[in-house]
Amino acid sequence: MRKSNIPNKILKWYDNNKRILPWRKKTSVKNREYFTLVSEFMLQQTQVKTVIPYFENFIKNFPNLKSLAIANEQKILKNWEGLGYYSRARNLKKTAIKLLKEFNGSLPKDLEKLKSLPGIGEYTSRSILAIAHNKPFIPMDGNVERILKRVFLLKTENQISKENLIKKKSFFNTCKRSSDYAQAIMEIGALVCKPTLPLCSLCPLTQNCNAYINKDYLIKTKNKTNKIKYFEANVYAHQNKYLLIKNKKFNFLKNLVIFPMTEINKEKFKRSENKKINVKMSNMNMKIIINKNNKLKAIKDSLLLDKSNINKYILPSFTKKIFNSLSHF
Ligand code: SF4
Repeated sequence: MRKSNIPNKILKWYDNNKRILPWRKKTSVKNREYFTLVSEFMLQQTQVKTVIPYFENFIKNFPNLKSLAIANEQKILKNWEGLGYYSRARNLKKTAIKLLKEFNGSLPKDLEKLKSLPGIGEYTSRSILAIAHNKPFIPMDGNVERILKRVFLLKTENQISKENLIKKKSFFNTCKRSSDYAQAIMEIGALVCKPTLPLCSLCPLTQNCNAYINKDYLIKTKNKTNKIKYFEANVYAHQNKYLLIKNKKFNFLKNLVIFPMTEINKEKFKRSENKKINVKMSNMNMKIIINKNNKLKAIKDSLLLDKSNINKYILPSFTKKIFNSLSHF
């Protein structure tokens, strides 16, 4: 197959197989920009199927940039509850304010200007340019990487380096339907070129794919091991009331409500006979001892939560996980 045919093949597949997603709905230019912005923020670190109900609810409550810019931050966080990575929600509001003040309510069409907005980095700015502005960018997400690794059978550390993958991206070429094209490639990665069992019989790239020709689908990933860190969480409770604090101490879950915690060393963790739980964060595995005290303690800037009402509060799933573990004491 000639390389120039690749966009046609991919787009033909996309037209017949794309998922109906709420942010892909045909709508005005302004709405499309807004939908792209919100969905791209939500999709950072989160899967499409998880994002769908959150996106629909969010758009119902904040239907446009202005409603988001003037909304109360607590209300925005409540709508984000369960999606995690709450800094995305705060940055989204800041970006909405900045877009209205400095860009006349439109998403800039320039990479550097987009990157100057809170919460928008290299990947999201390229996605926005491709999806909302039909610019010829193919953002490099895990799906695109996987397709390239298989098409070129990339296995060594050098071959899978970011620089090499960026070079290999020229395989896709460009076309006029840049917005659809970027989404189509990512969609093939998500629906067909799956991590463990690729569905090659449905793929438009079989004739160009070395993994398919060699029947070698194993993906080489960069060696990345999450750090293990040890903590003790102090649960102060009395008559169904629990003491929580706003986190100013740790860089993760910043400003969110957590149980009072301290980082400890491995030996102390091992010695303790109290209940222990594991929590996986994006860049670390936390091993936490739960120390339960049946008395409340005076701690500055703390608040008391009634366990029966926890759904009313904006709590990170991290804190909820500790709450859930308490019922097994
Ligand atoms: S042919 Fe198979 S392995 Fe190759 S890109 Fe398509 S789905 Fe992936």
